[in-house]
Order: sequence, then structure tokens, then C-alpha cells
Amino acid sequence: MSNFLPDIKEIAEENGLLLRKARNQYKALCLFHSEKSPSLYIHPEKNIFKCFGCGEGGGVIKFKAKLENKSEQEIFEELKSQNKKSYKASRYLHPAERLTSFQFKAMSEVIPDLCNMKGKPNWDFIRKFGNEEYLYFRSKVWRHWLEFLDYEKKDAEMTLRFGIRGNSVNEAIKEIKKREKLLGVTIFNQSMIKKTELMVEAIG
Ligand SMILES: [Zn+2]
Repeated sequence: MSNFLPDIKEIAEENGLLLRKARNQYKALCLFHSEKSPSLYIHPEKNIFKCFGCGEGGGVIKFKAKLENKSEQEIFEELKSQNKKSYKASRYLHPAERLTSFQFKAMSEVIPDLCNMKGKPNWDFIRKFGNEEYLYFRSKVWRHWLEFLDYEKKDAEMTLRFGIRGNSVNEAIKEIKKREKLLGVTIFNQSMIKKTELMVEAIG
């Protein structure tokens, strides 16, 4: 089974992580939270990752799923059926560069700093300005995207809160799922209900 699993170091590099050797592991700036010094560790032999900043960790499928905003099941199926050629076609794109026009537009509406940008940036063009500018802009976009997802999560929690108070949790979940589908990301999880229920109990 493990033969079709990709190499976690390769996945990290494809996603633009700058890896630094740290004993038998590699460390990099974490893509799942915003940080200035690297706390994401990749263990190539065990094919696992762990961030000591935000606590994310797991195997290569989870890593790939998180980077591509897909479910682990989706990644699993993809890997199973994928031929090498199509796999190579998606290489060397940082997740910031994979954001769609719709995702970019949605983010720009919420993050004032990106408001003056119309649509998806032309990454090929930006790369021509030089590597430093390109990396700076890319990390800025990605930081904003994570910030945007935080907003979305808060929105979803608010929707849930109204749902719980109005005895219409299922409708609330449906609404959140609709938003997720539109944005192409996963925001909702079961623990969110528990947390929101406690919040409603505490402050109404
Ligand atoms: Zn992290």
C-alpha cells in the first residue's frame, strides 16, 4: 500500500516550502499558520510532518490534503488512480498560486490590503520581478488567505450559533456546507458544534 504514497519531502518542495536540514529531519515555515521562524518539521524516513507552532501533524496524505484543501479520502483516491504524468503537471505550485479567481475575489473582499487587486494575480508575471519580490508577495497572499479562512470560520460559528439557538442546526450546517462548496475549502467540523454549543450555553 505504501508504494503509491508520495514522498513527503517532495510534496513539501512542490508546495514551495524552503526546507532546511535539521538532523534527520527538515524544517520549514509552516503553511498552516503564520510564523516568522520555522516550526514545521518533516521527517522523510517516517514520511510524517509535525508543526510545533500550531500543532498540526500527521502522515503524507493528511499533509497533501491540507495543502490542497481537500479531504484525505479525496487525496487517497487521487493517488490511487493518478498516473505519473498528471501528477507531475501540478508540481512546483505553492498553494497561494493555486488559489482560484473566485477564492481570490472572496479574500480580497474581506482583507482590505488586497482590495485594490482585481482577480487572480498573474504569477508568471510576478515571478519576473525577481525571486525576493515573488516570495514576499506569495507569502503575503498566503498569510492573507489563512486570515481569510479565520474570518470564514468565525462566520460559520456565528451561523451555527444562530442555528443552535433557533433549533435549526441542520439548516445552519447546510448553509455552511454551501459556503464551503463555493469557496472550495473545508471549514466545518463536528468539534465546531460542541464548541458553539458551549458558547451558546455560556453567553446565549
Ligand atoms: Zn503550524
